Amino acid sequence: MREKVLDFNKKEKCTGCSACASVCPKGAISFIQIEGGFAIPDIDRDACVGCHRCEQVCPTFMRSKAKCSGFLSGFVFSSDNCETALGSASGGAFSELAYEAVDAGGCACGCVWTEKLTAEHRVARNRGDARRFESSKYVQSKIEGIYTEVKNELEFGRKVVFGGTPCQVEAIGRYCGKDRDNLLLVSLVCRGASSPSVWEYYMRGLERRVGSRLVAVNQRDKSTGYSQPACRYEFENGTVLKRSTYISDLYTNCFASGITLRESCYRCPAKGYSNADVILGDDVLHVGSPRGATLILCVTPKGENWIRGVLPGRGNLLELDQEQISLVLKRSNMLLNSSSSPGGARERLFRNIREGVSADSALMRSLPLKQQIKVCLDKVGLFSLARVLKARVHG
Ligand SMILES: Cc1cc2nc3c(=O)[nH]c(=O)nc-3n(C[C@H](O)[C@H](O)[C@H](O)COP(=O)(O)OP(=O)(O)OC[C@H]3O[C@@H](n4cnc5c(N)ncnc54)[C@H](O)[C@@H]3O)c2cc1C
Ligand code: SF4
Ligand code: SF4
Ligand code: SF4
Repeated sequence: MREKVLDFNKKEKCTGCSACASVCPKGAISFIQIEGGFAIPDIDRDACVGCHRCEQVCPTFMRSKAKCSGFLSGFVFSSDNCETALGSASGGAFSELAYEAVDAGGCACGCVWTEKLTAEHRVARNRGDARRFESSKYVQSKIEGIYTEVKNELEFGRKVVFGGTPCQVEAIGRYCGKDRDNLLLVSLVCRGASSPSVWEYYMRGLERRVGSRLVAVNQRDKSTGYSQPACRYEFENGTVLKRSTYISDLYTNCFASGITLRESCYRCPAKGYSNADVILGDDVLHVGSPRGATLILCVTPKGENWIRGVLPGRGNLLELDQEQISLVLKRSNMLLNSSSSPGGARERLFRNIREGVSADSALMRSLPLKQQIKVCLDKVGLFSLARVLKARVHG
């Protein structure tokens, strides 16, 4: 029997980045699905030659050295392009960086909604395709084929902008090795990767309720404002359904409450460290445009050069001072440095789904009481009023 490599059938460790399978010279790694619809690697020990290349690309096996603190600089950005700014979750910084690469004959790589409304990473070579990366898809994206595509582009000397979760960024950076001058790694402030099978269950529930097929989704629709986005669901029969993101939309509420996440997200290997050139998040200081702004933290000089070189002509770029950066780190500390905890709610949710409880009931029952009250208030239109009153009471 071969020496044991990558014993990551331990599902609480594997992030599902699939870099190990892409790098394996013997094709010895395939994937199996576990509860939640998450994929974990399955190694064919007979085919494996013990080269350990899978371990060298794995974000869990070896951590990046760069600590997620002491950033070179910080910015807040909002794109001048109205469609881009409104279509993006924050201010459209990622799209503007992607446009820079595709306009120069290179490519950008990010997460899109597929026709079946699953999330997958794809490569874009023009602005139209790059627009599909806009906005957050709150479900774990499939990323398998991307590694070789990105490496091929770099070998041809083309620019590549890659955007994804910190664990994906860590893996792609390792996979591409030292040949990274033309590669800009953009990671997101990450709450976690949500369950594909809970998402599927939720979609089918909505379709049953409306009696039509779901054809488009935006989980950060800003027509109700940046600070209170909505989930917008479009159906084949023309029906449009809107539910407040993180509140009456029970799927995103459970995601934000840390209930639907992949097990590795509860002990995230990428928290506190970064292999990225820049990190993007929401404008937690609310100093940017009210229609939405991206917080940008520069980790490497390359990242800073891209931000200073590309973004000023494309929108409103505001540089943060050190005091503001410290405040950002304080407010985002939970997301940058520590992991969520599901309590018993995750197990309860999956049990209810196994027992065939309807999606809305299963999700509602797994939420803490405080969240359930918010959902009820939101459904009768009283949540926003309660928020305004609370803000007044607190001065
Ligand atoms: C699952 C998830 C959770 C997030 N949680 C937070 C948070 O708690 N706090 C915070 O400040 N910011 C969070 N963000 C980041 C934030 O929502 C914005 O994506 C970020 O501020 C960049 O905004 P933008 O307008 O520049 O780009 P946008 O157009 O909003 O984002 C596009 C980028 O998001 C990537 N992306 C979208 N969905 C996925 C996915 N499922 N997997 C991997 N990459 C994806 C695309 O590849 C692209 O790189 C999260 C993002 C995601 C995807
Ligand atoms: S050790 Fe080498 S051959 Fe074995 S699974 Fe890992 S990459 Fe494949
Ligand atoms: S984290 Fe990625 S590289 Fe590591 S075992 Fe899981 S899928 Fe493979
Ligand atoms: S929380 Fe960590 S493991 Fe989970 S998706 Fe984000 S970076 Fe990956």
